[in-house]
Amino acid sequence: MIKTISYLGLGTMGSGMASNLLKAGYELTVWNRSAEKCKPFARKGAHVADTPADAARNVDLVIYMLSNDQAVEEVVFGAKGILGGIKKGQVAMDMSTVLPAMSLREQEAYAKRGVDFLDVPVFGSKQEAAEAKLWIMAAGNKATFEKVKPVLQHLGQTVHYLGKNGKAAAMKLVGNLIVALELEALAEGLVLAQAGLDLKTVMEVVKVADFRSPLLVSNGQNILKRDFSTSFALKLMLKDAGLIEKFSESLQSPIPALRVVEKNLASAVSLGFGNENASALIKALEKEASVEVKGR
Ligand code: NAP
Repeated sequence: MIKTISYLGLGTMGSGMASNLLKAGYELTVWNRSAEKCKPFARKGAHVADTPADAARNVDLVIYMLSNDQAVEEVVFGAKGILGGIKKGQVAMDMSTVLPAMSLREQEAYAKRGVDFLDVPVFGSKQEAAEAKLWIMAAGNKATFEKVKPVLQHLGQTVHYLGKNGKAAAMKLVGNLIVALELEALAEGLVLAQAGLDLKTVMEVVKVADFRSPLLVSNGQNILKRDFSTSFALKLMLKDAGLIEKFSESLQSPIPALRVVEKNLASAVSLGFGNENASALIKALEKEASVEVKGR
């Protein structure tokens, strides 16, 4: 049974998820690159580790939720990385959105040390992370999955087993391909609609029609309020578009629409909106059309 957990990466997602593990009663150790983010956790009784290697020592489960492949490279494989502290019998879980090929590299490196590894990315954003309502996908050894499942149930509303390592990471990219296209569709639709339709009524229809989705509704309503506060940063959506591109190329699978979205994401980032929410993608289209989509 898992009793002690180390959690590395206390960003938008990680801070909510680590809080839920504390609330669930696990003995928690935290590590974050910018150490000040550990302080609120220390005040609530968590141990604070100085390095990823230290965090990984003597706990049942090591979880990390980091920006991208490069961060995982540093935190896992780096000089003071997890691999320098973790030992046979422990379990490691990467919850970041990374390439399936990275998950396979991680699995191989851990296996050499007798450590079980799962790739466990998530759907849902800041609010779902804070409220333990994430949709969680896991891949790797089935028995290891069963062992960590009670922990995952403290983080999410559903938990899905995808099979061999890399499959959950692949599912995450498939899902984010759909997310990227939905955001682009919403942005293009709203820019078109603002040239004559009442946007409040447009959103009333989007909310109930047969193409409705929670993602379209929440992002659409926030765009109308010009609220681009970050749940999922635009720069991370661009990062994910790059991962989807690489992954699809490795399978020679076509993604023509994603390439268009990627271009728009890149131009919104170059306009300076990378740290805003991914819905700020619309600002690239607004600039092109010289309009601003705003509810009255
Ligand atoms: P975030 O708020 O930007 O947090 C990123 C975390 O990674 C921070 O703890 C950051 O440390 C750390 N980090 C970045 N580069 C690092 C490096 N080189 N070495 C060590 N630590 C590093 O991102 P997030 O929104 O929580 O997302 C985390 C992961 O979840 C990403 O892979 C993202 O794609 C995925 N995801 C996000 C969402 C979402 O809606 N936000 C949803 C599903 C999945 P510092 O605090 O020091 O910067």
